[in-house]
Amino acid sequence: MRIPAKVIILLGPPGSGKGTQAFRLSAELGIPAVSTGEMLRAECQSGSTLGRAVKKVLASGQLVSDRLINQVVTNRLRQSDCLNGCILDGYPRTVSQARFLDSLLQTLNTTEAIIFDFEVQPEEIVARVGRRRQCPQCSRIFGVQDPSVESFCDRDGSRLVQRADDNPTTVRERLRLYARNAGELVDYYQLRDYHRISATRAPEQIADELLAFLPLRWSGASSVERAHATA
Ligand code: ADP
Repeated sequence: MRIPAKVIILLGPPGSGKGTQAFRLSAELGIPAVSTGEMLRAECQSGSTLGRAVKKVLASGQLVSDRLINQVVTNRLRQSDCLNGCILDGYPRTVSQARFLDSLLQTLNTTEAIIFDFEVQPEEIVARVGRRRQCPQCSRIFGVQDPSVESFCDRDGSRLVQRADDNPTTVRERLRLYARNAGELVDYYQLRDYHRISATRAPEQIADELLAFLPLRWSGASSVERAHATA
């Protein structure tokens, strides 16, 4: 019998830090961070016909169709590096996607998922997204102090870039869509292993809180150390 995979679902508005925490959890647990936004941006970069269509949707701040994103996620979760689980960043965003994910996880023999729902006030989000930059090389996300000066990735030295959809108009549209879907998604998940996370604190503090919610069996030495530390 296969050990159930560790699946973590990160919910929350754009700019709430899901990507940052997904990177950390991925390093801690040794399972991949699966960002639907990143996968869609990669498709845009490829210049394919699909990529060109997706690019228009992303630029408008709208969501791509459930059908398309469900297919993208199905293909990704069937890859061998997701065998022991993954961290889902940006998926599901609608109840229809959540239902689809439930059936997909069943076919992949996964029974447990932990859901973290990041909370940040909308005003804070617009400010954060204005300072958000990304490394084009390693995809890490940074909150820069002064957006008017160039910044560089501290890992590989690449010049950080701003995402094309991180402009105030698109962000407002993304927030509007988020608000439209969030209530239903919370209703869908809140009787499960669902945790609301105050995401206005320092990333390290948030990471510690997330890790503390994970079952000890999910991580190796680090969780044992944590158990000792809190005993
Ligand atoms: P953010 O979390 O800041 O909104 P993402 O990188 O997660 O950014 O998503 C960027 C864009 O990709 C979204 O605005 C949307 O157009 C598209 N997208 C990502 N995930 C989904 C999804 N699950 N369903 C539909 N569209 C999605």
